[in-house]
Amino acid sequence: MLILGLESSCDETAVALVNDAGDIRANLVLSQLAEHRPYGGVVPEIAARSHLDHLDGLIVKALEEAGVGFDDLHGVAATLGPGLIGGVLVAATTGKAIAAARGLPFVAVNHLEGHALTARLTDRLAFPYLLLLVSGGHCQLLAVEGVGRYRRYGGTIDDAVGEAFDKTAKLLGLDYPGGPAVERAARTGDASRFALPRPLKGRPGCDFSFSGLKTAVRQQVQQLGALSSQDRADLAASFQAAVAEVLVDRTRNALVRFRADTGQPGPLVVAGGVAANGSLRQALTVLTEAEGTELVAPPAKLCTDNAAMIAWAGVERLRLGQRDSLDARARPRWPLEELDTPTPELEV
Ligand code: ATP
Ligand code: MG
Ligand code: FE
Repeated sequence: MLILGLESSCDETAVALVNDAGDIRANLVLSQLAEHRPYGGVVPEIAARSHLDHLDGLIVKALEEAGVGFDDLHGVAATLGPGLIGGVLVAATTGKAIAAARGLPFVAVNHLEGHALTARLTDRLAFPYLLLLVSGGHCQLLAVEGVGRYRRYGGTIDDAVGEAFDKTAKLLGLDYPGGPAVERAARTGDASRFALPRPLKGRPGCDFSFSGLKTAVRQQVQQLGALSSQDRADLAASFQAAVAEVLVDRTRNALVRFRADTGQPGPLVVAGGVAANGSLRQALTVLTEAEGTELVAPPAKLCTDNAAMIAWAGVERLRLGQRDSLDARARPRWPLEELDTPTPELEV
């Protein structure tokens, strides 16, 4: 079973071909970074237009790379949300058009489920597992019990963690996007120089909060005035350490709850763009070892946005009999808890 996956929900235009054995036959990601950099963030109209300009060519290139044609496909999976709706519509409409023209089954994929199921593509992981989803728009802890079966343990009450990285980078005058830039700067920094807050640390539950941390960084920047490159490195390192400590603390609580719910100590999966962060992976490795379980972290390239994860979510759902209508609607907001478990009755 070979599935074409399409993704255009944010600022990456991505196309992939993945089969049900988990072979990634093509995985192309075209970043729009250069187009958004002058604005210091993603501009929705620019993103949508750029997806429209590039998606068709990228599909042709992916098929060429895999040495296959449309006739070799068994289905088309496209992100239908959540995300910037103008962008989402590009992959959604293109995917539906290909499915209609070729008489192929179409699967409407939730972008977050793409992140959530990546570990099953890369590590053949069985259900259930605990998921720490840390991305540009989300920060959540969930028990993943099956395809479409997510039990939410907690989430951010204000900013997403990727957003906190991006805003901190901006405050420090670092490059866009912020996550990788903060991580780079932090390498030569002293994480103990600034005593930044650890919001919600030590409190019961699995929620997160990052806005206070961001405010603390802003106040430090204002106090310092002109930042030297050492100041930047030290602030980046202090911020990154605070984030890792908070994520570890909340995840520890979630592991306790997960063990009570499932009788299993783990495993813990970390996914989403921020999962590319080396110091976070290190901290989570230490946590899981202490808790007697293991950390599964997909390669960085499959943590940030890509279409291999969308194709894979398509494989998982097609295998369960899901076929979505070509009327399926794109959704700017689409929480994981609102997903269905595919059942044969859903077939259209
Ligand atoms: P969502 O998945 O919530 O819809 P998104 O698709 O925009 O949002 P992702 O592409 O999954 O988000 O992740 C992008 C985020 O990951 C950005 O905020 C970026 O700064 C962050 N990020 C990427 N690499 C790193 C890194 N090495 N360290 C920290 N953060 C990182
Ligand atoms: Mg992105
Ligand atoms: Fe994402």
